[in-house]
Amino acid sequence: MTTMLGVSLAGRRVLMVGGGSVTARRLERFLADGADAAIVAPELSDGVRALVDAHGVPWTPRRVRTADVAGAWLVHTATGDARIDADVAAACERRRVLCVNASDGAHGSARLAAETRSGDVVVGVVSDAGVDPRRTARVRDAVATLLREGSLPLRRRRSARTGRVDLVGGGPGPADLMTVRGRRLLAEADVVVADRLGPTDVLSELDPDVEIIDVGKRPGHHPVPQDEINALLVEHARAGKHVVRLKGGDPFVYGRGGEEVAACLAAGVPVEVVPGLTSVVSVPQAAGIPVTHRGTAAGLHVVNGQADTSPSTLAALADDTVTTVVLMGVAALPRLVAAALAAGAPADRPMAIVERGHTPEQRTTRTTLAEAVADAERAGVRNPAVIVVGDVARAGLLLPQHELAGDANR
Ligand code: SAH
Repeated sequence: MTTMLGVSLAGRRVLMVGGGSVTARRLERFLADGADAAIVAPELSDGVRALVDAHGVPWTPRRVRTADVAGAWLVHTATGDARIDADVAAACERRRVLCVNASDGAHGSARLAAETRSGDVVVGVVSDAGVDPRRTARVRDAVATLLREGSLPLRRRRSARTGRVDLVGGGPGPADLMTVRGRRLLAEADVVVADRLGPTDVLSELDPDVEIIDVGKRPGHHPVPQDEINALLVEHARAGKHVVRLKGGDPFVYGRGGEEVAACLAAGVPVEVVPGLTSVVSVPQAAGIPVTHRGTAAGLHVVNGQADTSPSTLAALADDTVTTVVLMGVAALPRLVAAALAAGAPADRPMAIVERGHTPEQRTTRTTLAEAVADAERAGVRNPAVIVVGDVARAGLLLPQHELAGDANR
């Protein structure tokens, strides 16, 4: 029978016997845990030598003697010679030093678990039966997958003394377009402050006792003002809660994430930001539009359609080597088109309007500057949509040329 202990090796002497590839792998792990490692081996493989050099690990260049194990908390023996490993293990036993014996089919008084981590949670897998590293690794991998998907109950049950806020970029909508880190933080959260855009499906998977606060804008409903959102984040974090501020796309692209970070910093609340796939790039991509394309568009200009048209936006719209991507631009479309034409952009400059990208209701309207307003009205284009202006918006850009013959307006 095996008892799994969560042992801290930090600052503790760990003696590695042997200098081959198994030692290299394990040494790396022990060093990462802060162990005070030392090696005894007649020679070192390149991998071990690199670690020894990088971390200043003391190396005794000779065969092991049984007295070497004295003073260590843990010995790891992987000499490639089962008899020597067994002798080392026996010497450890006499001196009450725990020993991992890496010889095939053998094991000492200790064995290493196949480990996976998620934040501050460590899961280890060992077996009572004979050594079968592939099996334990497979079980570990299966657990790691569940952890990554956020489907295990990672929330702290004892509330932390200090709360914190994580601004998580949720991407354009589907849960599997969130980052692994974002999923994990969501699974750890006590309070989730969410928007209308972004991955709202993942909210239904959270523990029933996770508090979900919807601050999203809905037609006919007033959005929660930004200073109230800031106050909510600070207030819950101060109460010791782990707060996730879940946002569509990336928190720092028209997400007012900067203001939320500033509010947390001003209040002395620990805050971190997790990037997300911004709709600037991912929504055009969903319609097959690369925002830059060699030979077609060398630059990218991003603009908030609600803002006044700046000189740099006018310059971008008139420049046929630049792609202009407009967010929040549906209502401002007529003004934008008029400004572009007045700035000298050609009437036949391609445009695409991509609504609800990466969702089952995704729809793309291909048009030109001259036709955009009428086409958008006819199609009943609505928010959320990303507007792309530039040659990359041309239909069939990425298709082989012969398939396009006579089909230029698709
Ligand atoms: N932080 C977000 C942008 C927030 S502004 C990001 O990085 O993506 C909100 C605007 O984003 C919307 O008006 C729309 O222009 C765009 N948007 C976000 N998600 C979208 C989606 N799935 N489909 C189309 N447009 C989207």
